[in-house]
Amino acid sequence: MKYYKKKLIIEKINFQSLAHKFGTPAYCYSYSKLKENINKFKENFKSFSPLICFSVKSNTNVNLIREIKKFGLGADVVSKGELMMALKAGVPPSKIVFSGVGKTIEEINFAIEKKILLINAESKSEIQEINKIAKRKKKIVKVGIRLNPNTDAKTLKQISTGKSENKFGVNSKTFYELVNYCKNSKNINLQCLSVHIGSQILDHKPYEKMLKVVSNIINKTKHSFEFVDLGGGMGISYNKKIKKKLSYKKYNSAIKNFLRKHDTKIIFEPGRSIIGDTGTLISKIIYIKDGGSKKFIILDAAMNDLMRPALYGAIHKILPVNKSNSVSRYIYEFVGPICESTDKFVTLKKFQKLKESDFVAICDVGAYGMSLSSNYNLRPKPVELLIKGTNIRVIKDRQKHSDLI
Ligand SMILES: *Cc1c(COP(=O)(O)O)cnc(C)c1O
Repeated sequence: MKYYKKKLIIEKINFQSLAHKFGTPAYCYSYSKLKENINKFKENFKSFSPLICFSVKSNTNVNLIREIKKFGLGADVVSKGELMMALKAGVPPSKIVFSGVGKTIEEINFAIEKKILLINAESKSEIQEINKIAKRKKKIVKVGIRLNPNTDAKTLKQISTGKSENKFGVNSKTFYELVNYCKNSKNINLQCLSVHIGSQILDHKPYEKMLKVVSNIINKTKHSFEFVDLGGGMGISYNKKIKKKLSYKKYNSAIKNFLRKHDTKIIFEPGRSIIGDTGTLISKIIYIKDGGSKKFIILDAAMNDLMRPALYGAIHKILPVNKSNSVSRYIYEFVGPICESTDKFVTLKKFQKLKESDFVAICDVGAYGMSLSSNYNLRPKPVELLIKGTNIRVIKDRQKHSDLI
């Protein structure tokens, strides 16, 4: 994404023409950015050729999952719906892992029927349930156990998952108990230890700590794990001013160190780092309203289209679609039309002068953007477009009011 002759462009198309042609709000994804992210990820960890399972909850668009699959990636799913979507996109079951603290009997049954690579269990009750179902079906089911390594990911507390106070995984004591349980079961084949300590992680040190914990625990169990699933969580740069950046290199060397002691295949479950910066939400200014010292820029995109700011105070960069040199005297507060005070994107000083009907681009919304969207206020969901060079593909139609009413 960059400016060309003062117009903001994605690949070889300018956003203004997309907005005119497809209406707003609209999610636009860049194919070349997606390709770049996947290749960078693969290249960095190539020395141990991990299985990379795209975290479907970050973006559930079937056409995007299909494109991602073409690069050889598998899928990490957290519900029957996501598993069905990954299968529909053509992801081979042998590359699908199923995570989540509350898989129902129906979901476990479905996962077993589809012969996916691993069900990553998160509690004793779940392991017992899998065992019961596998016994009844006279099948041997491949499972992983998710460990809670009690490691602080040093990220937003709402997206931290690897501390003992979080609901995810089991502690080391339960882990040992479950390893024994699995060894004594004829219907469970324990193949994997999994961890996932949180999201938007920008420091490699929590990963290093987590690997140390995992290493110690594997040594104590004396079990040979075919897979160690390290989850996802690699952060991206939402704000270019914040210099902190996850060093893939350092994470890679920590894993290589780990692999000197443990003969196992690594699985990753990245979501945000693959899809986050590929997506942009274009929106039109409906009204500009005086608010004393500031002006409210009322957009046609709202918290139902992009919930991250309202949900965890996330900040997304906003850019004008047509650049000018005039700077506004006012502070701009970008808000949506929804009847909630949290329906607010960001407050900015020194933005260029805007007027009603102008378009703006909300950046880096590819992950947890559309997948967290809702029909709150009975608003139809936006259209999704995939841009490749000069080619525009509608990968999901805008919802119509008739779909809702
Ligand atoms: C959400 C999630 C991921 C993906 O996290 P990102 O931060 O998007 O990389 C991976 N694994 C599990 C178990 C998750 O819940």
